[in-house]
Amino acid sequence: MLLAHRIRIDASAAERDYFSRAAGTARRVWNWALGEWQRQAALGLRPNAMALKKQFNRIKYSDPAWLDGDGKPWLRSIHRDAHSQPFLNLAKAWSRYFDQCHDGRPARPPRFKKKGRCADSFYIANDRFRLEGMSAVLPKVGRVKLREALRWPGRILGASVSREAGEWFLAIQVDVPEQDARRSRTRDGVVGVDLGVTSAATLSTGEKIAAPRPFEAALRRVHIRSRRLSRKLQMAKMAVGVVGRIPKNTRLPVSKNRGKVANALSRQQARIARVRRDFIHKVTTRLCRENQAIVIEDLHVKGMLTNARLSRVIADIGFYEIRRQLQYKALRYGTDLVLADRWYPSSKLCSKCGTKNEDLALAERNWTCGVCGTEHDRDVNAAKNLQRLATNALGAATALPVASLAVTLGTAAGLAPAGGGKVTPVRYEHGQQDGSGQEENDAHCRQRSR
Ligand SMILES: [Zn+2]
Repeated sequence: MLLAHRIRIDASAAERDYFSRAAGTARRVWNWALGEWQRQAALGLRPNAMALKKQFNRIKYSDPAWLDGDGKPWLRSIHRDAHSQPFLNLAKAWSRYFDQCHDGRPARPPRFKKKGRCADSFYIANDRFRLEGMSAVLPKVGRVKLREALRWPGRILGASVSREAGEWFLAIQVDVPEQDARRSRTRDGVVGVDLGVTSAATLSTGEKIAAPRPFEAALRRVHIRSRRLSRKLQMAKMAVGVVGRIPKNTRLPVSKNRGKVANALSRQQARIARVRRDFIHKVTTRLCRENQAIVIEDLHVKGMLTNARLSRVIADIGFYEIRRQLQYKALRYGTDLVLADRWYPSSKLCSKCGTKNEDLALAERNWTCGVCGTEHDRDVNAAKNLQRLATNALGAATALPVASLAVTLGTAAGLAPAGGGKVTPVRYEHGQQDGSGQEENDAHCRQRSR
C-alpha cells in the first residue's frame, strides 16, 4: 500500500535558499517544457516528454536563457532530479487531460506555473537521498534536520520537498507492506454518516460531530492581513506608475514590509489548513477504526461548491478530503466503505417506516413522519437511512423497502478489499489506541527496511 509521510524540515538559511532555487528551477523547466510542447503541437508534431527532455538536455548548459550573469550554467548547482521530473509530470498531466476529455469529464489542460501562485516543490529520486533517523541526507545540500523520523517501514519510492508558508517539508512516499499498513479495528459497528453543514458529520447513532471552522474563525484576521497586503501592493503599483490591472511582465518592487505582511498572511492560511487537516484525520480514523462498514453519501461536492452561500462553509469543512481519507483508511482498517447514490433520498425517507416525505424543505431541521408519527432530527434520520443501505448491502435483515438501492460496495474504483459485503466480527484487538487519530506510536520505533 502506498503511503506518504510529510515531515517538516528544520532548514537553515542556506538550505532554504537551495530549496527555493530548486523549486524555482522545477517551475521554470515545467514552463519551458509546456511552452515547447504547445509550440510543437501547434506545428502538428506529436511532442512527448522523453524527446523534450533530450532536447532540453542539449541546450541546458549552453542556451543563453539558462546561463547566469557570468555566462555560467546555473543549472549545474541544482540537482538534476529537480529539472528532469517536470517532464514526467508534464506527460502525466497531459495524459490525465486526454483521459478526461476522452471520458467526457470536465478537463483543463496543463497550465504555466507562476511564481508565488503555484505550489513550490521539487522531486528527489529514492536512490539520491537517505534517511538517518531524524535527519535526511539530500543531494547538493547534505544533511538536513527533520522534525520526525519516517513513520512507515517499507520500500521508499521517492520524495518531494515542498514549501508551505515559508516552511519546508519532505514528503516521502513509501510502499508499505500490507501487514504493516493494516490496522485493527476496535469495534465492528455499521454506521451511516451524513455529512452536513450544521454539524460536519452526523452518525446514525445520533452523535453529531461538529467541525472546527478554522477559516470562519480566522476570517477577521485574514481580512486584516489581506488588507494590509493589498495596501502594500497599491503602494508598489503607485511607485511604478501602474493604474488598474498590472500589465504582463511587469515586476512590482517588493518592499521589506510587503514581504513581512505576505508571510503573515500565508502563515495564517497554513494554520487554517493545519486545523482542518487535523480534524479530518481524527474523524476519519475514528470512523474507520470503530466500524466494519461506513456509508456516506456520494456528494456532488463540485456542484455544491458552486452554491455561493454554502461553498465557503463546505470548503471550510473539507468534504472532499473527508471522503478521500475515508477511502484509503478504510483499506487499512479493512472497513467497507459504501457510497450511497447521489440521488438516494436519505433525508426524505422516514427511517422508521420508510415513507418518503416529498415536501421536506432544506430548512426543516426537524420533522414528523405523517404516517407513523415519529419525530425526526433531519441529519440523524438521514444517517440512519444511510446506515440501512449498508445493512441491506451486507445482506443483513431489514424489513424496510429502500427507495433506490444504488450501492457501490467497496467503492473508490475497486480500492476496497475483495470479498467485501460480509459482516465479520473484529478478530483481534491489540494495543492501546488513543483517540488522537495519529498513528500508533509503535510505528515510529519499528525497524525500517530500505
Ligand atoms: Zn414514518
